[in-house]
Amino acid sequence: MNYRGRFAPSPTGHLHFGSLVAAVGSWLCARHAGGQWLLRVEDMDPPREMPGSAESILAALPAFGLVADAPALFQSTRIGAYDAAFEQLKAAGQVFPCWCSRNDLAGGLHLDGHCLAKPDEGRTPAWRIRVPDIEIRFDDVLQGPQVANLRTTAGDFVIRRVEGYYAYQLACVVDDAFQGITDVVRGNDLLDSTPRQIYLQRCLGLSTPRYLHLPLALDGDGRKLSKSERAHPVDPTDPMPALRRALAFLDLPPVPGAQNPSALLAHALAHFDPARLPHCSERAAA
Ligand SMILES: [Zn+2]
Repeated sequence: MNYRGRFAPSPTGHLHFGSLVAAVGSWLCARHAGGQWLLRVEDMDPPREMPGSAESILAALPAFGLVADAPALFQSTRIGAYDAAFEQLKAAGQVFPCWCSRNDLAGGLHLDGHCLAKPDEGRTPAWRIRVPDIEIRFDDVLQGPQVANLRTTAGDFVIRRVEGYYAYQLACVVDDAFQGITDVVRGNDLLDSTPRQIYLQRCLGLSTPRYLHLPLALDGDGRKLSKSERAHPVDPTDPMPALRRALAFLDLPPVPGAQNPSALLAHALAHFDPARLPHCSERAAA
């Protein structure tokens, strides 16, 4: 199958350095493979979203030379597909309603395969998927062989929330399949979501893409940059400094003479080899 990659931001703010690294990394991998690069706006969590953020991010990407091969897919338009996946899991007896409060779980995992709280007709339940005691293994292109026992790391995880929104894990899996994604390139903060996503792919009869988790960008104090830098977005009206920093973060050689983002990316692409990306889980942004 031809390579199809994607960048899938959540519209919780403007494009920041951490998400620019993920965008540049996924774009380079897709173009290096002669494949397509697609966009998806993960707008499934309205309380966390910032009005205008999706438009701001989608407008910023071309300013950094990152042009997608198709219009962005918005998850808010895909509820019917998530309903269908949910019904498929329900028909197979793989999900159960859960009325547990945070107190019921006492900070631990939900492990019993059924809810221990009393059903409450007056309250909408969350829905969880029943997780067996199995190890999920996959080879991350950059981070190497991974193994996680779903029961001890995730437990029966939520796929539809009390508020009625579908959980990130379900929406992501359904849309990666819908968009024909062969290769997921994203930040290492999502590495621990991958076993849950692979399990959902198996339950839904979907194929599993290859995964490549890029090092996570940290600030000088060792905090995840996407959190601390939320107030300091990258500037699409002056894209060269941030783009140079993003390429340096990915260990691409500097290009002193490049006049614009497209020239900078073309040079980076000519020198790009996914095997030479930094093999660490996190690193400080320059
Ligand atoms: Zn429960």
